[in-house]
Amino acid sequence: DLNDAAVDLAGLDELLNDDERDVQRAVRTMAQSRIAPYVADWFERGTVDDPRGLVRELGELGVLGMHLTGYGCAGLSATEYGLTCLELEAVDSGIRSLVSVQGSLAMYALWRFGSEEVKTQWLPAMAAGDAVGCFGLTEPDHGSDPSGMTTRARRDGSDWVINGGKMWITNGSIADVAVIWAQTDEGIRGFAVPTSTPGFSAVEIRHKLSLRASITSELTMDEVRVPEECVFPEVRGLGGPLTCLAEARFGVVWGAMGAARTCLSTALRYAVERSQFGRPVAGFQLTQQKLADMELEYVKGMLLAMHLARRKDAGTLRSAQVSLGKLNNVREALEICRTARTILGANGISLEYPVIRHMNNLESVLTYEGTVEMHTLVIGKALTGIDAFR
Ligand code: FAD
Repeated sequence: DLNDAAVDLAGLDELLNDDERDVQRAVRTMAQSRIAPYVADWFERGTVDDPRGLVRELGELGVLGMHLTGYGCAGLSATEYGLTCLELEAVDSGIRSLVSVQGSLAMYALWRFGSEEVKTQWLPAMAAGDAVGCFGLTEPDHGSDPSGMTTRARRDGSDWVINGGKMWITNGSIADVAVIWAQTDEGIRGFAVPTSTPGFSAVEIRHKLSLRASITSELTMDEVRVPEECVFPEVRGLGGPLTCLAEARFGVVWGAMGAARTCLSTALRYAVERSQFGRPVAGFQLTQQKLADMELEYVKGMLLAMHLARRKDAGTLRSAQVSLGKLNNVREALEICRTARTILGANGISLEYPVIRHMNNLESVLTYEGTVEMHTLVIGKALTGIDAFR
C-alpha cells in the first residue's frame, strides 16, 4: 500500500513522465522497505543504526549527488531529484537531510568549486556511498548572518592552517570530508578538509527533540593543516556557500511535501477508521474542514515544487524563487502535520504513529537552510528592492 493515491485529488501524478515515475517508484520502494520499518525506533533512541551502511545503500540506489554530472554521478533531472527528496522525507526528514547534505551541500560544493584533485578524490566515492561529506557554515555565534564567522584559515608556505568551530553540522561525526567555510586575508573561502586531519574533531549534539534520526555535530579545528589543492581555487565571499544552500533548499521544497503527504494520508485513514458519537470522526464537518484545508495546501505546495523543478531543469530558476518555495512549503507542511496531530487525538502524540515525529522534524527544517524570517526578508527585498536584513 503506497498510500498516496487517496490524497492526489488534483491528479498531480499526470504531470510526471515515465522516467520520473520510475525514479519515484524506485526510491519509494527502497525507502518504504529499508528505512520506514526502522526509522521511528531510530528517532526514539536518537540514533541511526549503521549510518555508513545506510549511506552505502543510498549510494547503490544512485541518489547521492544524482543531479550532478560526471565523477560517478547519475546526471538526473531536478524533477527526479525533487521526487527523490519527496519520497525520502515521506519516511523521515532526517534521512532526506542526510541525502541533501551529501549531494546538494558537500558534493555540490566540491563539484562546483573544488580543485580537480579534490573532485577526483572525493566525488566518485561519495556518489557510491563509500565516503560521507558534511558542510560547515554555521558557527555557535553566527547562524543567519554567517558573514561574521570567526573560523580562520591562514597560508603557511603552500599549506593552509584552519582554526575555529562549526555548530549544528549534519553528518559531522560520520563524515570523511568536511566542506569548511573560513575567513582568510582574501575574504571567505571554502576548503575540502579530510576529517582524519590532525586537529579536526567532531562531537555529536545530544538533547535534540527534532531530527533525532539524523546525526548533528559540533566541529572543532585546532591548527588543521591542509595542502593547497584543498582550497576552492576561484570562489570568494558568501556567494560560494549561498549557491550551495540554494541547491539544497530546492530539495527541501520537495521534501517537506513528503512529510506533509505522510501526515495527511495518516490522518485521513485514521479519521475514517476512528469512530466517536457513533460515527467516523471523518464524518464530522470540523474534521472535513481540516482535511480539505490540508489537501489544498498539499496540492498548492506540490504545484509550486513542480514549477520550480521545471524552471531548474530549464536553467531559469532564481534564488528568490527557491525562497518562495522553501518558505511556503515548509510552513504549510508543518501546519498540515500539526493539524493531522489533532485529528489523531491522543494517538497524535505517540511515536506509534508517524505524525508527531514528522511535526517535530519540520521544526528543524523550518530553521535550517534559512529561517522563515530570512526567506520572508529575501522575498520582501525581491518585491521592494529594499534590504531589511540589517
Ligand atoms: P539565529 O541566526 O541566531 O536566529 C535566531 C532568530 O532570529 C531566528 O528566528 C531568525 O530568523 C531571527 N533573525 C535573525 N536575523 C534576523 C533578521 N535580520 N531579521 C529578522 N529575524 C532575524 N548549518 C550548517 O552550516 N550545516 C549544516 O549541516 C546544518 N545542519 C543543521 C541541522 C539542524 C538539525 C539544525 C537545527 C540546524 C542546522 N544548521 C546547519 C544550522 C542552521 O542553518 C542555522 O540554525 C540557521 O541558519 C539559523 O541560525 P541560528 O540557529 O544561529 O539562529
